[in-house]
Amino acid sequence: MEKLIIANWKMNPESIAVAKKLFTEVKKTAGKLSNVKTVIAPPFLYIYELSKLYTGNKIEFASQDVFWEKKGSFTGEIGVSMLKNSGVKYVIVGHSERRALGDNDENINKKILASIQSGLAVILCVGEKNRDNKDGVHLSFLAKQLEGALKDVPQNKISKIIIAYEPIWAIGKNEKDAMKSYELHEMVIFIRKTMVNIFGKNSALKIPILYGGSVEIENTETLLTEGMADGLLVGHASLSAREFSDMLKIVQNI
Ligand code: PEP
Repeated sequence: MEKLIIANWKMNPESIAVAKKLFTEVKKTAGKLSNVKTVIAPPFLYIYELSKLYTGNKIEFASQDVFWEKKGSFTGEIGVSMLKNSGVKYVIVGHSERRALGDNDENINKKILASIQSGLAVILCVGEKNRDNKDGVHLSFLAKQLEGALKDVPQNKISKIIIAYEPIWAIGKNEKDAMKSYELHEMVIFIRKTMVNIFGKNSALKIPILYGGSVEIENTETLLTEGMADGLLVGHASLSAREFSDMLKIVQNI
Protein backbone atom coordinates (compact mmCIF):
# COMPACT_ATOMS: atom_id res chain seq x y z
CA MET A 1 0.00 0.00 0.00
CA GLU A 2 1.19 3.53 -0.75
CA LYS A 3 2.68 5.17 2.35
CA LEU A 4 1.81 8.72 3.27
CA ILE A 5 4.74 10.91 4.32
CA ILE A 6 3.88 14.39 5.58
CA ALA A 7 6.50 17.13 5.85
CA ASN A 8 5.46 19.63 8.51
CA TRP A 9 7.68 22.65 7.91
CA LYS A 10 6.09 24.51 10.84
CA MET A 11 7.15 28.20 10.79
CA ASN A 12 10.09 27.59 8.43
CA PRO A 13 11.92 28.62 6.30
CA GLU A 14 12.08 32.40 6.67
CA SER A 15 11.71 33.32 2.99
CA ILE A 16 9.83 32.11 -0.08
CA ALA A 17 13.14 31.88 -1.95
CA VAL A 18 14.46 29.30 0.52
CA ALA A 19 11.10 27.52 0.54
CA LYS A 20 11.21 27.21 -3.25
CA LYS A 21 14.74 25.84 -3.13
CA LEU A 22 13.79 23.26 -0.50
CA PHE A 23 10.68 22.21 -2.40
CA THR A 24 12.51 21.99 -5.73
CA GLU A 25 15.15 19.72 -4.18
CA VAL A 26 12.60 17.44 -2.49
CA LYS A 27 10.53 17.27 -5.68
CA LYS A 28 13.41 15.59 -7.53
CA THR A 29 12.93 12.50 -5.37
CA ALA A 30 9.31 12.76 -4.22
CA GLY A 31 7.98 13.30 -7.73
CA LYS A 32 9.35 9.93 -8.89
CA LEU A 33 8.22 7.52 -6.18
CA SER A 34 5.54 4.94 -6.88
CA ASN A 35 5.00 3.67 -3.30
CA VAL A 36 4.95 7.01 -1.52
CA LYS A 37 2.60 9.97 -1.48
CA THR A 38 4.47 13.01 -0.17
CA VAL A 39 2.49 15.83 1.40
CA ILE A 40 4.26 19.11 2.08
CA ALA A 41 2.82 21.41 4.76
CA PRO A 42 4.52 24.81 4.39
CA PRO A 43 3.42 28.01 6.12
CA PHE A 44 0.14 29.31 4.57
CA LEU A 45 1.91 32.15 2.82
CA TYR A 46 4.07 29.90 0.64
CA ILE A 47 1.56 27.26 -0.45
CA TYR A 48 0.21 28.91 -3.58
CA GLU A 49 3.65 29.80 -4.95
CA LEU A 50 4.97 26.31 -4.28
CA SER A 51 1.93 24.59 -5.76
CA LYS A 52 2.72 26.25 -9.08
CA LEU A 53 6.05 24.41 -9.16
CA TYR A 54 4.49 20.95 -9.44
CA THR A 55 1.76 19.49 -11.63
CA GLY A 56 1.88 15.72 -10.97
CA ASN A 57 0.03 13.65 -8.38
CA LYS A 58 2.85 12.24 -6.24
CA ILE A 59 3.17 15.39 -4.15
CA GLU A 60 0.29 17.25 -2.51
CA PHE A 61 0.09 20.28 -0.23
CA ALA A 62 -1.31 20.58 3.27
CA SER A 63 -1.99 23.57 5.44
CA GLN A 64 -0.92 23.49 9.08
CA ASP A 65 -4.29 24.70 10.32
CA VAL A 66 -7.69 25.93 9.07
CA PHE A 67 -10.63 27.99 10.33
CA TRP A 68 -14.17 26.59 10.30
CA GLU A 69 -16.16 29.60 9.06
CA LYS A 70 -16.54 30.09 5.31
CA LYS A 71 -15.67 33.81 5.20
CA GLY A 72 -16.26 37.08 7.03
CA SER A 73 -14.98 39.07 10.00
CA PHE A 74 -12.40 36.67 11.39
CA THR A 75 -9.16 38.61 11.39
CA GLY A 76 -6.12 36.47 10.86
CA GLU A 77 -7.98 33.30 9.93
CA ILE A 78 -7.86 31.21 6.73
CA GLY A 79 -10.93 29.31 5.49
CA VAL A 80 -11.37 26.12 3.50
CA SER A 81 -12.17 27.77 0.14
CA MET A 82 -9.02 29.89 0.35
CA LEU A 83 -6.99 26.76 0.98
CA LYS A 84 -8.61 24.80 -1.84
CA ASN A 85 -8.10 27.70 -4.22
CA SER A 86 -4.42 27.78 -3.27
CA GLY A 87 -3.66 24.15 -4.13
CA VAL A 88 -4.28 22.55 -0.73
CA LYS A 89 -5.69 18.99 -0.53
CA TYR A 90 -4.95 18.16 3.12
CA VAL A 91 -5.18 20.09 6.38
CA ILE A 92 -3.31 19.32 9.57
CA VAL A 93 -5.69 19.79 12.48
CA GLY A 94 -5.02 19.60 16.20
CA HIS A 95 -1.23 19.68 16.10
CA SER A 96 0.08 19.78 19.67
CA GLU A 97 1.73 23.14 18.98
CA ARG A 98 -1.69 24.57 18.00
CA ARG A 99 -3.32 22.92 21.02
CA ALA A 100 -0.68 24.61 23.19
CA LEU A 101 -1.86 27.94 21.71
CA GLY A 102 -5.49 27.31 22.57
CA ASP A 103 -6.96 24.70 20.20
CA ASN A 104 -9.29 22.31 22.01
CA ASP A 105 -11.38 19.26 21.12
CA GLU A 106 -14.42 21.42 20.40
CA ASN A 107 -12.86 23.79 17.87
CA ILE A 108 -10.75 20.98 16.39
CA ASN A 109 -14.03 19.17 15.72
CA LYS A 110 -15.41 22.28 13.97
CA LYS A 111 -12.28 22.51 11.82
CA ILE A 112 -12.58 18.85 10.87
CA LEU A 113 -16.27 19.05 9.94
CA ALA A 114 -15.74 22.19 7.83
CA SER A 115 -12.75 20.64 6.05
CA ILE A 116 -14.32 17.30 5.16
CA GLN A 117 -17.56 18.94 4.03
CA SER A 118 -15.50 20.96 1.55
CA GLY A 119 -13.63 17.89 0.28
CA LEU A 120 -10.31 18.51 2.05
CA ALA A 121 -8.64 15.54 3.74
CA VAL A 122 -7.84 15.98 7.42
CA ILE A 123 -4.69 14.88 9.20
CA LEU A 124 -5.85 14.81 12.82
CA CYS A 125 -2.97 14.96 15.31
CA VAL A 126 -3.45 13.35 18.69
CA GLY A 127 -1.01 12.37 21.41
CA GLU A 128 -0.37 12.30 25.12
CA LYS A 129 1.88 14.77 26.89
CA ASN A 130 3.89 12.47 29.12
CA ARG A 131 5.51 9.14 28.70
CA ASP A 132 4.01 7.87 31.95
CA ASN A 133 1.86 4.90 30.94
CA LYS A 134 0.71 4.09 34.46
CA ASP A 135 -2.86 2.74 34.71
CA GLY A 136 -3.45 3.34 31.01
CA VAL A 137 -4.18 7.03 31.61
CA HIS A 138 -2.59 7.89 28.28
CA LEU A 139 -4.98 5.50 26.53
CA SER A 140 -8.14 7.03 27.96
CA PHE A 141 -6.71 10.48 27.20
CA LEU A 142 -6.14 9.49 23.58
CA ALA A 143 -9.56 7.91 23.19
CA LYS A 144 -11.14 11.11 24.52
CA GLN A 145 -9.14 13.25 22.07
CA LEU A 146 -10.20 11.05 19.16
CA GLU A 147 -13.86 10.89 20.17
CA GLY A 148 -14.05 14.65 20.73
CA ALA A 149 -12.36 15.56 17.47
CA LEU A 150 -14.31 13.09 15.35
CA LYS A 151 -17.78 13.76 16.77
CA ASP A 152 -20.47 13.81 14.05
CA VAL A 153 -18.10 12.84 11.23
CA PRO A 154 -20.47 11.06 8.83
CA GLN A 155 -19.68 7.58 7.48
CA ASN A 156 -19.53 8.88 3.91
CA LYS A 157 -16.64 11.23 4.81
CA ILE A 158 -14.43 8.72 6.60
CA SER A 159 -12.20 8.43 3.54
CA LYS A 160 -11.15 12.02 4.31
CA ILE A 161 -9.79 11.18 7.78
CA ILE A 162 -6.15 10.39 8.57
CA ILE A 163 -4.89 10.03 12.14
CA ALA A 164 -1.38 11.19 13.05
CA TYR A 165 -0.36 9.79 16.42
CA GLU A 166 2.21 12.20 17.82
CA PRO A 167 3.16 11.63 21.46
CA ILE A 168 4.17 15.10 22.60
CA TRP A 169 7.10 13.80 24.65
CA ALA A 170 8.67 12.49 21.43
CA ILE A 171 8.36 15.64 19.30
CA GLY A 172 11.32 17.79 18.28
CA LYS A 173 14.08 15.55 19.64
CA ASN A 174 16.17 12.97 17.81
CA GLU A 175 15.51 9.41 16.76
CA LYS A 176 16.90 8.01 20.02
CA ASP A 177 14.11 9.78 21.90
CA ALA A 178 11.36 8.76 19.49
CA MET A 179 8.82 6.13 20.39
CA LYS A 180 10.18 2.63 19.84
CA SER A 181 8.60 0.68 17.03
CA TYR A 182 7.22 -2.08 19.32
CA GLU A 183 5.57 0.58 21.50
CA LEU A 184 4.14 2.23 18.41
CA HIS A 185 2.67 -1.07 17.27
CA GLU A 186 0.66 -1.24 20.53
CA MET A 187 -0.53 2.32 20.07
CA VAL A 188 -1.57 1.70 16.46
CA ILE A 189 -3.65 -1.26 17.63
CA PHE A 190 -5.25 0.87 20.35
CA ILE A 191 -6.05 3.70 17.93
CA ARG A 192 -7.47 1.22 15.42
CA LYS A 193 -9.72 -0.25 18.14
CA THR A 194 -10.87 3.25 19.07
CA MET A 195 -11.69 3.91 15.42
CA VAL A 196 -13.73 0.69 15.34
CA ASN A 197 -15.64 1.89 18.42
CA ILE A 198 -16.38 5.23 16.78
CA PHE A 199 -17.05 4.23 13.17
CA GLY A 200 -17.59 0.47 13.11
CA LYS A 201 -15.24 -2.19 11.78
CA ASN A 202 -15.55 -1.83 8.02
CA SER A 203 -14.89 1.88 7.88
CA ALA A 204 -12.32 1.98 10.68
CA LEU A 205 -9.95 -0.43 8.99
CA LYS A 206 -9.52 1.97 6.07
CA ILE A 207 -8.35 4.95 8.13
CA PRO A 208 -4.58 5.53 7.78
CA ILE A 209 -2.74 5.81 11.10
CA LEU A 210 0.54 7.73 10.88
CA TYR A 211 3.27 8.30 13.45
CA GLY A 212 5.06 11.58 14.17
CA GLY A 213 7.72 12.53 16.70
CA SER A 214 11.47 12.63 15.99
CA VAL A 215 11.39 10.55 12.85
CA GLU A 216 14.80 10.65 11.21
CA ILE A 217 16.65 8.48 8.70
CA GLU A 218 17.57 5.88 11.32
CA ASN A 219 14.05 5.01 12.50
CA THR A 220 12.08 5.59 9.30
CA GLU A 221 11.95 1.96 8.26
CA THR A 222 11.20 0.26 11.59
CA LEU A 223 8.40 2.66 12.55
CA LEU A 224 6.63 1.64 9.36
CA THR A 225 7.44 -2.07 9.36
CA GLU A 226 7.52 -3.15 13.04
CA GLY A 227 5.50 -0.14 14.20
CA MET A 228 2.82 -0.83 11.58
CA ALA A 229 2.22 2.84 10.84
CA ASP A 230 0.66 3.66 7.45
CA GLY A 231 2.88 6.71 7.12
CA LEU A 232 4.89 9.32 8.97
CA LEU A 233 4.61 12.96 9.92
CA VAL A 234 8.08 14.48 9.82
CA GLY A 235 8.99 17.79 11.44
CA HIS A 236 12.60 18.95 11.72
CA ALA A 237 14.02 16.27 9.39
CA SER A 238 11.79 17.56 6.57
CA LEU A 239 13.71 20.86 6.52
CA SER A 240 16.80 19.19 5.12
CA ALA A 241 16.18 18.28 1.47
CA ARG A 242 18.92 15.67 1.59
CA GLU A 243 17.72 13.99 4.78
CA PHE A 244 14.05 14.08 3.83
CA SER A 245 14.76 12.73 0.33
CA ASP A 246 16.77 9.86 1.82
CA MET A 247 13.85 9.08 4.12
CA LEU A 248 11.49 9.02 1.13
CA LYS A 249 13.79 6.60 -0.68
CA ILE A 250 13.83 4.29 2.36
CA VAL A 251 10.02 4.28 2.39
CA GLN A 252 9.89 3.60 -1.34
CA ASN A 253 12.07 0.50 -0.88
CA ILE A 254 10.18 -1.09 2.02
C1 PEP B 1 5.79 17.49 14.57
O1 PEP B 1 5.90 18.49 15.28
O2 PEP B 1 4.74 17.24 13.98
C2 PEP B 1 6.94 16.61 14.43
C3 PEP B 1 6.73 15.39 14.05
O3 PEP B 1 8.16 17.17 14.69
P1 PEP B 1 9.58 16.43 14.80
O4 PEP B 1 9.69 15.46 13.64
O5 PEP B 1 10.56 17.51 14.72
O6 PEP B 1 9.56 15.69 16.09
